[in-house]
Amino acid sequence: NRSDVHYWGAGPAPLPTAVLEKASQVLLNYKDKGIGLCEISHRSPDANEILAHAKQTLTYLLEIPDDYEILFLQSGGSGEFSATVYNLVAIWVEKKRAKIAEEVGDDKGEVLRRLRTVVDEELKLDYLVTGSWSLKASQEAARLVGAKHVNVAVDARKAGDGKFVDIPSEDKWTLTPRTSGGGPALVYFCDNETVDGVEFPAFPHSLEGDDAPLVCADMSSNFISRKVDVRKYAVIFGGAQKNIGNTGIAIVIIRKSLLPPAVTYASADLLRELNLPVGPIVLDYPTIAKNNSLYNTLPIFDVWIAGQVMAGLVNTYGAKRIGGQEDISNEKARIIYETLDKYPNVYRVVPGNAVRSRMNICFRVHGGDADKEKAFLAGAEKKGLLGLKGHRSVGGIRASNYNAVSLEGAKTLVSYLEDYANSA
Ligand code: PMP
Repeated sequence: NRSDVHYWGAGPAPLPTAVLEKASQVLLNYKDKGIGLCEISHRSPDANEILAHAKQTLTYLLEIPDDYEILFLQSGGSGEFSATVYNLVAIWVEKKRAKIAEEVGDDKGEVLRRLRTVVDEELKLDYLVTGSWSLKASQEAARLVGAKHVNVAVDARKAGDGKFVDIPSEDKWTLTPRTSGGGPALVYFCDNETVDGVEFPAFPHSLEGDDAPLVCADMSSNFISRKVDVRKYAVIFGGAQKNIGNTGIAIVIIRKSLLPPAVTYASADLLRELNLPVGPIVLDYPTIAKNNSLYNTLPIFDVWIAGQVMAGLVNTYGAKRIGGQEDISNEKARIIYETLDKYPNVYRVVPGNAVRSRMNICFRVHGGDADKEKAFLAGAEKKGLLGLKGHRSVGGIRASNYNAVSLEGAKTLVSYLEDYANSA
């Protein structure tokens, strides 16, 4: 029974029972129409209403300013690794082309010759590699535009075992210098590393300022879990299947000045001339924005789930908006880490203190002894604590403390941690 279980899976992850109960009804019969939500047209008024509601609710929760647009795509989180590159490189290239054209006039051959040199020498995409997902994103960028254009400004892997456990201090980052009209096409980071349990405690200082670079952040696993100053970002994205909903959609929050008519993207012909990648149309932000996320068939049921989950937060926290959820998330994480720290002979939290994720709590039991960790997990399952096994690439234990995990659930885990430690 659902009520006997606390599920700690990293994604797909638990969803509020009330939302799933309602979902099971609307799947069969939406608004008494005799057809279900997976059967209605994505272009119907009902679908439009669902889309508008999800946008409004997210806007309210995160206080998203008017000069930002929300997009829904089927890309998953990984699709956005590619989409950020395609789109921001196309903007960067067109800006350079326009500047060169201003200098040399109509001579298209000369413009192209100069542009080739500029791309060759100046195109840089900065990546802060602080865990497995930002590493993957940086590898995708290198695959698309070539490794020489990817500047890994931080590689947080620990010498020796290659594990991600800390974020090096900002004075050690090697960001591409900001120059007037220059600088990197984007600076990318993953706000919360799901596999490694490493979360940025705050927005990095070195990415702020009047001449701030275009920051793209992956918030797949800590979306709507804390307040975010959206204005600091060019693009925020996340797969829905952790804090927001079920698998099937990714959400993108993009600064409108990065969309037409405010800006022009390099044409596919120009990108081909420059040996730069031309992205699939379904990842093209201008196309998705122009069509209100309905360029192709959007899974409206998934958007509905996300809308219901977010509306639940608005109902619960009211004018506190996402701050209300942030307080609970912090409190759940606090009591779990506090218990782990209380028994250093039994538990060891993997990441460093300052970068401990509030969402994915990664720890080892008895120094990572495989049999003991197995026994720990088996004991947890007996208490109805499911999904605690760490990611296969790193092992250990991972408690994913997403929004749908209740404070009561966290207390149940704490009590198991206590019992296990005291009997060990
Ligand atoms: N980014 C992060 C932080 C993730 O945790 C994940 C998935 N666990 C992804 C990206 C990839 O998402 P998807 O599987 O939807 O492509």
